Amino acid sequence: MFDMIKNCFSFLLIASLFSIHGFAQDPGAKKYAAEITANRTKKYLKVLASDNYEGRETGKRGAELAASYLAKEFKKLKLTAPVNDSFFQIVELIETKMLVNFLEINGTKLNFGTDFLFSGSGEAKTIKALEIIFIGLGTETDLKNSVIKDKVVLLKQEGKSSEIARRLNFVKSKNPAVIIAVNTTRNSPENSHLAGASLSVKNGVRESIPMKANSSAVIQIGTEIVNSILGKSGKSFKELNSDRAPSLIQAEITLNYQPIKRELQSSNVLGYIEGTDLKDEVLVYSAHYDHIGLNPDGGKDKVFNGADDDASGTSGVLAIARAFAKAKKDGAGPRRSILFLMLTGEEKNLLGSEYYSINPVFPLSKTIANLNIDMIGRIGTEYLNSPDSSNYIFLVGSDRLSTDPHKISENANATSTNMKIDYKHNADEDNIYYWSDHYNFAKNGVPVIFYYNGKHDDYHKGSDEISKINFELLAKRAQLAYFTGWDLVMRNDRPIIDGIHDKR
Ligand SMILES: [Zn+2]
Repeated sequence: MFDMIKNCFSFLLIASLFSIHGFAQDPGAKKYAAEITANRTKKYLKVLASDNYEGRETGKRGAELAASYLAKEFKKLKLTAPVNDSFFQIVELIETKMLVNFLEINGTKLNFGTDFLFSGSGEAKTIKALEIIFIGLGTETDLKNSVIKDKVVLLKQEGKSSEIARRLNFVKSKNPAVIIAVNTTRNSPENSHLAGASLSVKNGVRESIPMKANSSAVIQIGTEIVNSILGKSGKSFKELNSDRAPSLIQAEITLNYQPIKRELQSSNVLGYIEGTDLKDEVLVYSAHYDHIGLNPDGGKDKVFNGADDDASGTSGVLAIARAFAKAKKDGAGPRRSILFLMLTGEEKNLLGSEYYSINPVFPLSKTIANLNIDMIGRIGTEYLNSPDSSNYIFLVGSDRLSTDPHKISENANATSTNMKIDYKHNADEDNIYYWSDHYNFAKNGVPVIFYYNGKHDDYHKGSDEISKINFELLAKRAQLAYFTGWDLVMRNDRPIIDGIHDKR
């Protein structure tokens, strides 16, 4: 009964949208939507997510190969190369590696790589301490009665990687000087998120994104090393575990590290279709083609394929470009111009879109909206057991800066794709709104819609494989973005700003 009332209400709402705003289904839109198929997106995705592309890590060979492939496809579609006749916008980055000159615990010198891994940021530092605070799993309860600012803390890590990451961020938010993190399921340090270098945009103005900004150094160790740290306290890690956190451990620790910087280049890949009577205004479709690279712990499977994240979005945007290119060829092209923007560096903190927003190829003031697609090829955990599992999408941000994209998208769905649209992540505690490249448009006043299937167990794992992609669903979600974009580039008026970007 309740649902019926709700459905009835949304029918009325749609009916009123038609009459008030003059929405209609454009027959041209439907014709070219036929270009966006499961087979087509599969063809693109199989190349992008193949092992040959080595996980497409920014600054590495695999990402370069992916960028060349995208430019080649843009050329095939006869898109315009808008960066001084090139499809590539060079993105200038600074790579910072933290060099640990010295780590000694209780008189024993530890070796980077074999004994521990390290991540940190900021300037060169020497840290000396005579005690370590054991903080258990680093939950809110564990930290309730202790001040850990500028201290050295020992953190136990177990459970799902998303939980581990969340707790690590929580501990970092308390600004300890050093976090010694022990993964209890491993003998050696975990090599995934902590190893290696960090990247930033050269001359960028990195503003803090929630859960991402902090400066605590993190030393990652395995279970063998932790017992040598505990030597002086007379306890084993197992015994310590049974104590209530926080507890104090006597240990001498000296750490010295310094940043080593070098410049490096990557590129965003841009394809452009010029509009007709409203060509000065631009709609931007975006997806990030980069991913997290090679997986040294992967055994036989050494590649993070990132099939869903975000070969799915990249393939979707390519298929959308194909549809609009065909329309243009038939003389039915868009009134406003369209930029197809394949971004680098998303996994390194939204760097490609940050660079573009500082160095836009088309003025941001003339950019009417950004439709950003990041992960649309899978059924996320939240929908695995839902009757809507193969017919849903999360939309994020669609009504924040402007309510127009939201209404247009609702109409496109009602008249074309008929999916269940879930707005749960539009304002949730995980702040998904800040998690992908549309953020760099929104913060500059450009209305956005973010298309997303929700997290799943293979997120940022070696198991984010091509074989797990649902191509029918991918194509359908891409079609929703296509129909919405079609309306945005064809209508008389661009979206009006009637909201605010930041609801925090
Ligand atoms: Zn992504």
